[in-house]
Amino acid sequence: MARYIFITGGVVSSLGKGLMAASLGALLQARGYKVRIRKFDPYLNVDPGTMSPYQHGEVYVTDDGAETDLDLGHYERFTGVSARQSDNITSGRVYQDIIAKERRGDYLGATVQVIPHVTDAIKNFALADQDDLDFILCEIGGTVGDIESLPFMEAIRQLRNELEPQQTLSVHVTLVPYIAAAGELKTKPTQHSVRELASLGIKPDVLLCRAEHPLPDSERQKIANFCNVRKQAVIPALDAPSIYSVPLQYHQEGLDAEVLRGFGITDAPEPDLAAWNDVTDRYFHPEGEVTIGVVGKYVGLQDAYKSLNEALVHGGMANRVKVNIKWIDAEVFEGNDEEIAAKLEPLHAILVPGGFGERGSEGKIASVRFARERKVPFLGICLGMQMACIEAARSAGHDAASSTEFGHTDEPVVGIITEWMTAEGLEKREAGGDLGGTMRLGAYEARLDGNSHVSALYGGTTSISERHRHRYEVNVAYRDALESQGLIFSGMSPDGLLPEIVERPDHPWFVGVQFHPELKSKPFDPHPLFSGFIEAALHQSRLV
Ligand code: GLN
Repeated sequence: MARYIFITGGVVSSLGKGLMAASLGALLQARGYKVRIRKFDPYLNVDPGTMSPYQHGEVYVTDDGAETDLDLGHYERFTGVSARQSDNITSGRVYQDIIAKERRGDYLGATVQVIPHVTDAIKNFALADQDDLDFILCEIGGTVGDIESLPFMEAIRQLRNELEPQQTLSVHVTLVPYIAAAGELKTKPTQHSVRELASLGIKPDVLLCRAEHPLPDSERQKIANFCNVRKQAVIPALDAPSIYSVPLQYHQEGLDAEVLRGFGITDAPEPDLAAWNDVTDRYFHPEGEVTIGVVGKYVGLQDAYKSLNEALVHGGMANRVKVNIKWIDAEVFEGNDEEIAAKLEPLHAILVPGGFGERGSEGKIASVRFARERKVPFLGICLGMQMACIEAARSAGHDAASSTEFGHTDEPVVGIITEWMTAEGLEKREAGGDLGGTMRLGAYEARLDGNSHVSALYGGTTSISERHRHRYEVNVAYRDALESQGLIFSGMSPDGLLPEIVERPDHPWFVGVQFHPELKSKPFDPHPLFSGFIEAALHQSRLV
């Protein structure tokens, strides 16, 4: 039976609980344990799929087609364990299931209540799919004291009673602020937060204290005294120079050792941290640098492109170079050629990422044209590939080429698809149907042309599996027109109907992909498209 680690946060939000969970998972894994990390989100959306990236950062997509919280991206990147639909639950999904059951009459005669119905559903989620896992880490979104998270806290309290002693552990992440005027670190917010958690019936076993300044022994002791834990269980979590140093840093502070002690495990093997040492070595000791321009829409908030940002860094690690990312708002390019040249000329490569809606699309198309004409390495992801196809069609004389996502067009180079094949059979959508959960989502196979540049990048294979999240597709009817313009369709869906990859043999490095390769990149296993893209940027940096 798996052991459970419940991770809650206190004092303020944005303490990096997700990263903390991912790091602890990675440390336990480095000791040879099998782990899985789950996220409980207290908001009422059924999933984050319909939320603006400005609300909650990027939507992370799993192989099995779930649209999930971006923390699942951290978990997967740090542990290499593929996240699943069953690793993310929201209050919205819990209520949706319960209300559907209520309407069906499954509870006939009963009053449906938060306790036990909602809390039971949460507990079932936590206990499901244990496989042969050693540890299941459950991160609870939000901050202790939030009204929304109360049913989750109650479910944890009950689980802690129901499971065996030493089968569960509570880790509480808090903040120890530094008051500059007094020149002191303050422990009171942590004390209050632990008291709040205790009032819900949960006594934390380990406190992870985020702080900007080192926590003196006296303050650790004070927190221990007031919060009813031993001093060694008060783990200082100082700001790290990079997210990739967090696992090593937490290990040095004794987090994994203290967690194992909390479970009464005394014979744990020492962790093998070679992979993390290598990752940090590559990150902190680069032998060159490149500057990549990302021309997108949500450039004001980097969390909106979290996985992309990380995948570019991984590509840098693969080549031992530092990757500087210039986030460029596509809208500033619309109808402004001088601005385009001024902004794009200094860059070593250009990336147009995924996105939704018409705003900024002409700027993205203009960036594609710049990359094509000036022979600057280019990677187009999802909407970015669609823009590359529209740009090619326009340059082949289809002046009205556009996407039906942006309104009616006589030249639908990109159009909505309402039917496609999955491993389970034909999938159908209505053109004007629901927006939530109705895209082509999750892992799909693509067949590659064995002589293509991408096939070589993927190590010579002709079949790959990558994750998708889109409603529109490049229209295969334009294949001949685009190929005669030099844009080759080098990857297709197995039935040959959906273009998955385009590339330009007449260009040093020009690739568009309908899927999101950034979702599968790991620091210790950089995605080949990103390794190749950064390598091309490095080459370009030596030319300019
Ligand atoms: N908006 C486009 C579509 O729905 C692209 C989506 C994306 O880039 N993820 O097809």
